[in-house]
Amino acid sequence: EAKRLRNEVSLYDPELEADRLSHLSLLSELETAITQGQLRQFVQPKLSLVGGEPVVAGVEALVRWQHPERGWLPPSEFVPFAESTGRIRQITQWMLEQAVDTLARWRAEDRFPDGVPPISVNISTLDVQDGLLPARIEALLRRANVPAELLQLELTETGLMASTQDPIHVMHSLRRLGVRLAIDDFGTGQSSLAYLQRLPVHELKIDRSFVDGVDQDAKREELLGSIIMLGHGLGLQVSAEGVENTAELAVLKRLGCDLVQGYLLAKPMDIERFEAWSRPLAVL
Ligand code: C2E
Ligand code: CA
Ligand code: CA
Ligand code: CA
Repeated sequence: EAKRLRNEVSLYDPELEADRLSHLSLLSELETAITQGQLRQFVQPKLSLVGGEPVVAGVEALVRWQHPERGWLPPSEFVPFAESTGRIRQITQWMLEQAVDTLARWRAEDRFPDGVPPISVNISTLDVQDGLLPARIEALLRRANVPAELLQLELTETGLMASTQDPIHVMHSLRRLGVRLAIDDFGTGQSSLAYLQRLPVHELKIDRSFVDGVDQDAKREELLGSIIMLGHGLGLQVSAEGVENTAELAVLKRLGCDLVQGYLLAKPMDIERFEAWSRPLAVL
């Protein structure tokens, strides 16, 4: 590894020296973060609009970096870097371990009388290209004795399309394990209907750009409505992210969206806070 890095580095222009140093120091800081326990798992609830009373249908796990000097860092500050340097695979593994540990504890504590909410973990292109991902997930679930259907994986539409290997094979292996699969940021990629139909997923998560301002523009509502119909037409559960106000929520309800997530309902929070959090029934 060190040798490979040296070779890469020697290709740099001396003018890029400063960039190179900051790249290397960020890389070592990130490695420290992963191995020294500076990452935190936050969760954001997802609520079901189907049926009478809204219920927590699951939570999405979102990574945070509690940096010793720079404070809390959002994923935008380090996930793209972790993806380009391959370190995302360790982050994903850590997020999966945390999620499975939490699920095991929730089951043991009998904390949720209506059933333990599934946890969704974000998966990158590199993870999908890793043929061992299904086996590693199976091992985690088995060790903790957690039913596979409590774990969901979110794969972005663009990430799937960017994969150098056909992701469908890995997705089928994951599905056979019993984990749930969702297409994330749906609508931002250019996938064809034919491609979409081949993906063995359970849920379609509509990108928040389609939700934003949907209450203020009939055309946007029309567009969102057709995406929801498309998802239902494919037999999928449809969820919307980035719901920020009651007007947007009302449109989503009217259009028959199954699940909603967004600041209006709850911001991402640490597990302890989520356990103490009560659902904002008034808003729904
Ligand atoms: P994402 O998967 O689309 O996650 C949703 C993002 O939207 C989260 O940002 C969340 O805090 C934010 N969000 C939730 N509700 C609202 C809302 O009502 N309005 C707005 N404007 N934003 C809302 P976050 O946590 O900063 O994560 C950003 C992205 O970083 C994620 O987008 C995901 O692509 C990536 N990411 C986060 N955690 C992980 C991870 O563990 N692994 C990987 N590979 N990527 C991650
Ligand atoms: Ca996501
Ligand atoms: Ca998303
Ligand atoms: Ca908005």
